[in-house]
Amino acid sequence: MKDCLFCKMVAGEIKPDMVMQNDQLIAFRDINPQAATHILVVPRRHISTLNDLAQEDAGIIESMVSAARTIAHQQGIAASGYRLVMNCNQAGGQTVYHIHLHLLGGRPMGWPPG
Ligand code: AMP
Ligand code: ZN
Repeated sequence: MKDCLFCKMVAGEIKPDMVMQNDQLIAFRDINPQAATHILVVPRRHISTLNDLAQEDAGIIESMVSAARTIAHQQGIAASGYRLVMNCNQAGGQTVYHIHLHLLGGRPMGWPPG
């Protein structure tokens, strides 16, 4: 999708600090990390928000969670623990309107989240 930051990364027009790529998704380090490990898992397909997910997109979410689990192991935070977050729309804190999963770890997480 034109003018979408994450679509430009998927297309290779902008090159993030990539940690994983497969046929469904890319994963890269967040430019403004909120934890020692902060990685974004982004499907190649443009879907604006979680509200726009269709039933047939269930496989995309599965592959995103699976990738995050693998990356957590690779980054050495699986055993200590980590958090997966998806923000939806303004009140949910979404700023980039192409769905993505935040993988956060390397520090204790507070609850409730802000
Ligand atoms: P959200 O606020 O949930 O939509 O998350 C968007 C995330 O994208 C934020 O954590 C930003 O720091 C991150 N971000 C924005 N621009 C870039 C970029 N050029 N490279 C890597 N991460 C980015
Ligand atoms: Zn996009």
